[in-house]
Amino acid sequence: MSTTLDINTRRNSAAAPASAPASLAGLTRPALREALVNSGAVPPEKAKMRADQLWRWIHHHGVTGFDAMTNVSKDLRAALAERFTLARPELVERQVSRDGTRKYLIRLAPGVECETVFIPDVGRSGALCVSSQVGCTLNCTFCHTGTQALVRNLTAQEIAAQVLIARDDLGEWPTSNENRQITNIVFMGMGEPLYNFDAVADSIDVISDGDGIAISRRRTTVSTSGVVPKIRELGERTQAMLAISLHATNDGLRDELVPLNRKYPIAELMEAIRAYPGLSNARRVTFEYVMLKGVNDSLAEARALVNLLKGVPAKINLIPFNPWPGAPYECSDWETIEKFAEVVNRAGYASPIRTPRGRDILAACGQLRSESVKQRASERRKLEREAGAAS
Ligand code: SAH
Ligand code: SF4
Repeated sequence: MSTTLDINTRRNSAAAPASAPASLAGLTRPALREALVNSGAVPPEKAKMRADQLWRWIHHHGVTGFDAMTNVSKDLRAALAERFTLARPELVERQVSRDGTRKYLIRLAPGVECETVFIPDVGRSGALCVSSQVGCTLNCTFCHTGTQALVRNLTAQEIAAQVLIARDDLGEWPTSNENRQITNIVFMGMGEPLYNFDAVADSIDVISDGDGIAISRRRTTVSTSGVVPKIRELGERTQAMLAISLHATNDGLRDELVPLNRKYPIAELMEAIRAYPGLSNARRVTFEYVMLKGVNDSLAEARALVNLLKGVPAKINLIPFNPWPGAPYECSDWETIEKFAEVVNRAGYASPIRTPRGRDILAACGQLRSESVKQRASERRKLEREAGAAS
């Protein structure tokens, strides 16, 4: 079966309609070369050299205009500016939490919005949580994104642009090796990354390139709800770290929480994980386990979790459930989470509880977008009422 969604997406906006100059920011190297040649601004024999030059300006220096490219001739800069921009998608909303968490709502096209969250102090410094789709087809019952219909897959350029926008906001240009705030990338925003495989893999090429954004593949984690046939390929193609949204230790419960489990049950999932390329004690799989009160948080389940992961180089992330309006679950009590964590700790997994971050702005993943959709709907209703009253 094909696990890549067959929906209408632009592969990259270099192919955007002639009316809107396309942005070169966030394109892969091959797409950048192609765009330059197709536009007629650069002859094919010079494409590689020019693309390499531009690449560094765009992804190492983060420039937003061609004039800054001092080693590119004036004429070529003018020719490029006629045909292209270095624009990022529109930042519709930006929220900064007291704890430093930043949440961005980004408009990719009218009605197509995704979320990106910067979380400080994870790993050595900070992680940027990026989206791979707008909405999700998978309907996990605890996930707010799952309640939203899939709008579409993001392009590789749109995924990379989330990093550009966050770096613009944090003043992280040019790329430096010291004092970076965004040191890690996690594909844990909206969407199932393995249902948008090619774009995710291409975006990792862009983000990890040492002459650009330079966030290494080992500091990039792709989280999946368990698309078994794509797991091995993910490791081979991207060398990224793997995270698995497990959330239950038996098929009965996992079928309910993560409906994809009905297609790829736990035993098959574990087999695919064990075969993940490059797995070792230095490169462990992260298992995410959302703590749902009275649902999956008993001590027996903690023991079952530890048993299930025996022999797999693993990290465990217990995630306090982030409630959203109308959610059918509550977060486990803190005491219960601590007891659960103790069992996991005793089995040799260090500090497994993920501290809730940005609670004051974050609510649940997917919520900012739906708040904005709701707001638009209520504005529309208000306008309709006013129009009705006027007629
Ligand atoms: N679709 C992928 C990646 C995006 S979800 C996946 O499911 O792995 C990223 C993580 O957030 C997943 O582990 C998901 O289970 C978790 N998550 C989703 N909704 C949540 C909520 N309301 N509270 C806590 N964690 C949640
Ligand atoms: Fe989709 Fe992941 Fe949410 Fe499940 S948890 S609905 S796979 S985004």
